[in-house]
Amino acid sequence: MRFLENFPLAAFNTFGIRAKARYFAAPASEDELARLLRSVTARNLPLMVLGGGSNVIFGGDFAGLVIHPDMRGIQCLGETAEHYLIEAAAGEKWHDFVQYTLARNWFGLENLSLIPGTVGASPIQNIGAYGVEVTDRLHSLTAIEIATGCRHEFTHAQCRFGYRDSVFKQELRDRFIISRVRFRLLKTPAPRIDYGDIRQELVARHIDSPTPRQVSDAVIAIRSRKLPSPDVLGNAGSFFKNPVVGRAQLESLKADWPALVSYPQGEGAKLAAGWLIEQAGWKGRRIGPVGSYEKQALVLVNHGGATGGDVVCVAQAIQQAVRERFGVELEMEPQVYGGN
Ligand code: FAD
Ligand code: NAP
Repeated sequence: MRFLENFPLAAFNTFGIRAKARYFAAPASEDELARLLRSVTARNLPLMVLGGGSNVIFGGDFAGLVIHPDMRGIQCLGETAEHYLIEAAAGEKWHDFVQYTLARNWFGLENLSLIPGTVGASPIQNIGAYGVEVTDRLHSLTAIEIATGCRHEFTHAQCRFGYRDSVFKQELRDRFIISRVRFRLLKTPAPRIDYGDIRQELVARHIDSPTPRQVSDAVIAIRSRKLPSPDVLGNAGSFFKNPVVGRAQLESLKADWPALVSYPQGEGAKLAAGWLIEQAGWKGRRIGPVGSYEKQALVLVNHGGATGGDVVCVAQAIQQAVRERFGVELEMEPQVYGGN
């Protein structure tokens, strides 16, 4: 397998940061990936896995090997009375996969339309949108252990999914490369439209009982209006997770801020991070090339030529502003690589 050297990463991260990888390889099969891992672990190279680069920030050049899983393929492995078991390879583009399933009447992923990135990354932070998360549909997955090149199977339970979280961001962080993901998709449509702006969009289209295709179209339309396309304005989607607070903190915040936007979550509540940032005066504001997006404060954008340092500087300024105003900590969603 060929290593590319001093590989430019600007086209491999949606924030559009110009960084380089010392080495870059794109294995197209599990065997190729396993062989690659066995050959590099002995060399002690720093290693990172890069899918579509839509949830990473490059703090600078990456002085090791970037592995870009490039396995392809989607297949139906079987069916029950209610479900199809569908397997997709890690390198498939997530949105294309969602559209492929809908075209074959395999339902359940429609709310997750137009999320950038790859199938292989989708379990990492348990991607979610409009009330549906990957955990709702994932059956199991296959991953290759970085230290050994050996193949492992993970059941749904072993992935330990949480809100924008999984075991692969916690105990097993940087230990496995996901190569294939299996989903249990529905034979009978069960549209979920009571979240965000979906119902409103369907009403505007005069649709009462939407098909999954119509839900997908509505989601695509809302997202296209509201979110900046990375092809036009570099970004990594929501830059911070919505913070979850306990009941006591929620009550105290609500006393001071009656308009606070929150949703019940476990014993406490999830706060809308975009609202906190807007109230802290950051919506549409920028420092140099990086700013908060004018239509959605939670998204940071690259107005051109941003470095990883510029991004971190703005992120920290926003975290400080929200901390000072509300006493709430915002945690970054994208992972930062390179630069040290
Ligand atoms: P990358 O950014 O390349 O990687 C993300 C992390 O996963 C890194 O730590 C990387 O090392 C690891 N990783 C990637 N592939 C693998 C693999 N095969 N095995 C092991 N580790 C791997 N997210 C949501 O949850 N919901 C949304 O609605 C949403 N909307 C977005 C909208 C925009 C405009 C953008 C830019 C981003 C959005 N995101 C959203 C974030 C992002 O698209 C998802 O997190 C996506 O799953 C990242 O996929 P990726 O292939 O680009 O991963
Ligand atoms: P939105 O619909 O304006 O809603 C703002 C926030 O309120 C969202 O963060 C969402 O939480 C929450 N919310 C809305 N309705 C809710 C409900 N019925 N129950 C519980 N929580 C509710 O958000 P948006 O920015 O346009 O995004 C729409 C969807 O796409 C959201 O689900 C969002 O997570 C997802 N998205 C994610 C990213 C990313 O990078 N992670 C980027 C763009 C969009 P949740 O975020 O928990 O859903």
